[in-house]
Amino acid sequence: MKKTRILVIGSGGQIGSELTPALRKVYGAEHVVASDIKSDICEHVLNEGPFEVLDCMDEHRLVEIIIKYKITRIYHLVALLSAVGEHKPLMAWNINLGSLMNVLEIARELHLSVFIPSSIGAFGPSTPKKNTPQDTLMRPTTIYGITKVCGEMLGDYYFKKYGVDVRGLRYPGIISNVTQPGGGTTDYAVEIFYKALEEGRYTCYLKEDTYFDMMYMPDAVRAAIEVMEADPDKLVHRNAYNVSAMSFNPRQLSAEIQKHIPDFRVEYKPDPEKQAIADSWPDNMDDSAARQEWNWKHEYDLPKMTEDMLVTLKKKAMTS
Ligand code: NAD
Repeated sequence: MKKTRILVIGSGGQIGSELTPALRKVYGAEHVVASDIKSDICEHVLNEGPFEVLDCMDEHRLVEIIIKYKITRIYHLVALLSAVGEHKPLMAWNINLGSLMNVLEIARELHLSVFIPSSIGAFGPSTPKKNTPQDTLMRPTTIYGITKVCGEMLGDYYFKKYGVDVRGLRYPGIISNVTQPGGGTTDYAVEIFYKALEEGRYTCYLKEDTYFDMMYMPDAVRAAIEVMEADPDKLVHRNAYNVSAMSFNPRQLSAEIQKHIPDFRVEYKPDPEKQAIADSWPDNMDDSAARQEWNWKHEYDLPKMTEDMLVTLKKKAMTS
């Protein structure tokens, strides 16, 4: 069997900085090449295996790296996220879809498999908000969401037309403690932990009753690895799986943090632009297709994630 050799594009971001080391544990450090447009990224990603500076809009450089390392699988993590995208819509379109087309075309020519993360942002205000089905109405109102729906459809198209093994997940908001999030609408759920520990106060840019699906990074990383390793014969959807772990609003997250830090206080000053994006997304997704087709199971719920975040961030603060 051909050895799996992976290129992670966007290794320096919130997901890449934790997915890359996890992939290196599974496939061997020398078989997982990290890459990013910038080189000032986490030291462990830079030092624990090969790293290449790569602008994924540059298809020649992309091919050069793929050939150099005999890559068989790409994790394509580059995107301008929802909040940032609204300020630079043309750039979001060009980067999110231009880079994906580069990756898919090269995957077609060189017979590579591809992982592409979609998002709850691919849904829109006309999507059922509760228990959002796997297959449903998708008319997003952000440029980020529009690029995510197109990305999902391109993934399906390249599989059906050319047999490219494209798989992906619709991630909820991701909570992590290694790298700060890159400008999404769900970032409050990370910021709040830092502020709780550093200042005992947080001003939330969303209303207190704004629900989202959320997932702790260890689950997000495992899902990305498991879907790519799943038996293809069992995959009915193959791509763009709803995956979830917990659904909560800022008030519930604050209350959970207060169990550990009783004096923690939160104020709500909704930012109209971010609130409008949040209001257009589902409260909670039905991820039964992922659970049935490749046995998706989350490990972290709200209490377990909150405890782990606080313990880990406290330890980090003591050693820095
Ligand atoms: P991020 O913004 O934290 O990281 C993206 C990385 O890509 C950055 O390190 C950036 O330097 C790099 N990059 C930007 N332009 C590049 C280019 N032209 N060439 C190479 N590298 C470039 O993003 P993230 O949060 O890690 O998200 C990764 C993927 O997961 C995205 O597709 C995003 O839409 C999706 N996703 C993320 C979340 C979340 O909560 N983080 C939720 C749903 C979906």
